[in-house]
Amino acid sequence: NLVVERIDDLKTITTLEPEHLMTLHCVQCNTVLADSLGVCGELKCMDCVMCMRVTNDVVVSGALESVHKGEMANCICSNLKCRSCNSVVGKRIHAAPSHLVATRSVFLLNKAKMSCYILDSSSMVKASSLSFELKPLQETVDEVRQECEQQL
Ligand SMILES: [Zn+2]
Repeated sequence: NLVVERIDDLKTITTLEPEHLMTLHCVQCNTVLADSLGVCGELKCMDCVMCMRVTNDVVVSGALESVHKGEMANCICSNLKCRSCNSVVGKRIHAAPSHLVATRSVFLLNKAKMSCYILDSSSMVKASSLSFELKPLQETVDEVRQECEQQL
């Protein structure tokens, strides 16, 4: 039984993988901002893709701002800008309350500001039409969240 389950798992992973090979582009000017290999998950509450790394065309704007309301209340963050067209494409969080701790030190790219080029099907789609949720990370986030809630 265990062996069968494992094989099923593998199949799922293999069939999903090609869909994840894509590049993320600025919706304004088409500059490549990141690729799917750097994506580490999705932050649904903020409609953002979480990336471990981004291209050199993503500029972290120098000014730190603290957020006072909304999903990102009590976060200290700076904007991420597209180098080519200077539009704000996301945020980098420098300090965050415990429920957003997983977002610290990753790049948050706003799905509404991106389009995706899927290499497998050679098609350009809106980032907002895709799910970037990666289960292991989501589980980790949930676990961390539960731990935090237990401590409160
Ligand atoms: Zn741009």
